[in-house]
Amino acid sequence: MTRADEKASIDPNDAAAHSRSWIGRVPVSAFERLSPLIGKPDAEVEVELTFEPDANGTVRVSGVASVNAILECHRCLEDVRQEIVAELDLRLTSSEDKLKELMPALDVMVIDVGLIPIVAIVEDDLIMSIPARACTTELNCPNAPRELASSTSVAEDDSSRPFAGLQALKNSNKEEC
Ligand SMILES: [Zn+2]
Repeated sequence: MTRADEKASIDPNDAAAHSRSWIGRVPVSAFERLSPLIGKPDAEVEVELTFEPDANGTVRVSGVASVNAILECHRCLEDVRQEIVAELDLRLTSSEDKLKELMPALDVMVIDVGLIPIVAIVEDDLIMSIPARACTTELNCPNAPRELASSTSVAEDDSSRPFAGLQALKNSNKEEC
């Protein structure tokens, strides 16, 4: 594997003309907006992109970008390790008119002619791929505070709730671990 290159760039039109791919790594520090979000300043973003001409006159970029992040769970406020994976399928063009013509049916990005940084191609999709919840679902949060809610519904007569005893047993078990 080659060294991570913070200035990695490509000419999408040229790459598409030759149906080329770009495979490599970019240090997350090169991503101005992404890097403060992933809690791991030394991480590297792995990128694998394929460029090809699209029938509508744009360059189609498809592939994947991924990075290992440390996210803070909003529920337990613990750090959770998580791989962020962005699947990309973009159209690149230097024409604003093409953008208006093809959006929103396709994901179109307007770029300058010539070399553009790999960062510019993958950063938005990576940011959008950061999960809203760090612990896979809030219910699965391994660090969730124990529920205190069952004590709020004791108004009912216990004899009408055959499983009340079982529930109490469960709760007492919970408190022990
Ligand atoms: Zn959590």
